[in-house]
Amino acid sequence: MFCWFSRLCRGLSTPTRRTTQLIWSSASRRLVLSSQRRIPELSSFVARTNTCGELRSSHLGQEVTLCGWIQFRRQNIFLVLRDFHGLVQVVIPQDESAASVKKILCEAPMESVVQVSGTVISRPPGQENPKMPTGEIEIKVKTAKLLNSCKKLPFEIKDFMKKTEALRLQYRYLDLRSVQMQYNLRLRSQMVMKMREYLCNLHGFVDVETPTLFKRTPGGAKEFVIPSREPGKFYSLPQSPQQFKQLLMVGGLDRYFQVARCYRDEGSRPDRQPEFTQIDIEMSFVDQTGIQSLIEGLLQYSWPSDKDPVVVPFPSMPFAEALASYGTDKPDTRFGMKIVDISDMFRNTEVGFLQDALSKPQGTVKAICIHKGAKYLKRKDIESIRKFATDHFNEEVLPIFLKTNENWNSPVAKFIMEEQGLGLVKLLETQEEDVVLLTAGEHKRACSLMGKLRLECADLLEARGVVLRDPALFSFLWVVDFPLFLPKEENPQELESAHHPFTAPHPSDIHLLYTEPHKVRSQHYDLVLNGNEIGGGSIRIHNSELQHYVLATVLKEDVKLLSHLLQALDYGAPPHGGIALGLDRLMCLVTGAPSIRDVIAFPKSFRGHDLMSNAPDSIPPEELKPYHIQVSWPTDAETEKSSSNHPCRSES
Ligand code: ASP
Repeated sequence: MFCWFSRLCRGLSTPTRRTTQLIWSSASRRLVLSSQRRIPELSSFVARTNTCGELRSSHLGQEVTLCGWIQFRRQNIFLVLRDFHGLVQVVIPQDESAASVKKILCEAPMESVVQVSGTVISRPPGQENPKMPTGEIEIKVKTAKLLNSCKKLPFEIKDFMKKTEALRLQYRYLDLRSVQMQYNLRLRSQMVMKMREYLCNLHGFVDVETPTLFKRTPGGAKEFVIPSREPGKFYSLPQSPQQFKQLLMVGGLDRYFQVARCYRDEGSRPDRQPEFTQIDIEMSFVDQTGIQSLIEGLLQYSWPSDKDPVVVPFPSMPFAEALASYGTDKPDTRFGMKIVDISDMFRNTEVGFLQDALSKPQGTVKAICIHKGAKYLKRKDIESIRKFATDHFNEEVLPIFLKTNENWNSPVAKFIMEEQGLGLVKLLETQEEDVVLLTAGEHKRACSLMGKLRLECADLLEARGVVLRDPALFSFLWVVDFPLFLPKEENPQELESAHHPFTAPHPSDIHLLYTEPHKVRSQHYDLVLNGNEIGGGSIRIHNSELQHYVLATVLKEDVKLLSHLLQALDYGAPPHGGIALGLDRLMCLVTGAPSIRDVIAFPKSFRGHDLMSNAPDSIPPEELKPYHIQVSWPTDAETEKSSSNHPCRSES
């Protein structure tokens, strides 16, 4: 236990070459920043001499003072003391002269915080505990102080996974004492420190804070609104520092970075939070490959030393291929089961729904092959897969169970002609006991459905013990060549930005912007890790006229909202581009945590609530007056409706 801390420390305790970098210079002054990694001093400035986890046989005979929480007590003789660094065994004195020390240590409830002073002694032969890093020694206590007593706890600190998440969030300060939360937050801090070092000290980036009180931005996510004291005027919390980082480039900052807090009023999901953190980056005079190499280097440099090193460069995949083969713009490339287009094989089919689909423009037939699916998938799995397809996509999915001699078991088996069968086997590289899932429909929709089923089947197979995705593997992928615009879901005649409205078109497609904007490719790139989008960015439009055209003519946005940016682009704005990495998601994947809430100290619940303090909270009407706003309270029926419409009704 607590060996995590030594793992964490290993990275820090290896002194590396001193790195000194000239960051900025002018005729009159020079600013030199340096960074040196060294062993951290964990007990400076405080009322202890050592941490609980650091004592070893080499400390024998030393007089030490430790502070920590009572983890465990055995027969009023031993006490195990815990701090963030580890555990140590303390021997409770039994002699009459130390009765007061004994009383403190025996009567303090578990999780009380105490200070003990004494001598490091070796454990009697045979009583060493090889599972504890401090297992060869114990502390012979001379004095003890109860620093603060602990009431009966709402849950045991040790049983991290056994309590509901709502309870953990309500008592977050206790939950943070768990080994897992300590590990996650400390690893996060270390990675961020290394990122700073890489960006600022090795590559001359400047850490600039940008405002949190901002104004409404057209397009994009829903924003949180903050009332101001001016009647009818509101701030908005930024979805990201996008405009500011571009303005910093106009301001000649050249290489900007920030650990930036971003806000989107979109409701939480397992991988989303209303407030989240980005490693936000912008550079002048850069192209797509420049940004990609920077990020590869950044991740390689900051990657935890106890994991397999990051291999660079990361592979790249065009968006069209990601959609066609994986049904998503964030493909999990750790396993195959790719989507295959089998339309040509079924042009003369007698199967009604395939015929129907193929008779329409854009109509396709798609399939995935689940290797050994017949062995692992149950009838009820296939039924639920088919139900999912009808419920969510209004599409039919047919299973084909492959058997020897093409004697296949499927509702459509008798309609599949011999050459179609042979074609299927060849294209999908099927073998006996495989299951093929087949669907038909418009290309994008059919791919998207198959992409979801591919992941669903992977989960099902893994639940039955098949290893498809190695948990120790980190598979990075660049997705590139996105379209600049996509049809709006609610009104496909209108276009919206695939990334954001500041993204530059692909240089060779600029002419199409004025004729067929939906065909323009962009200079937008996403970074995917194990099927999760962990970053995205683009080369920006730095020409004011072009930016105006995109906003006003293509996207039909109110350009007045962005007049400051359009104006800035007219004053010698350099070509520039950038990216933002989602720090919470990245940390969640690195630590293997089940949710991003496990890598954030004080996260919100699914409904965006802070369960510990009960934010958001109501404000008395008189306190609302200065803001010139009034609450129009919903009726009971409206409240009911809005809570049942909420995507996730459970509090956590
Ligand atoms: N601001 C963008 C985002 O939050 C990232 C970027 O384009 O740099 O997705």
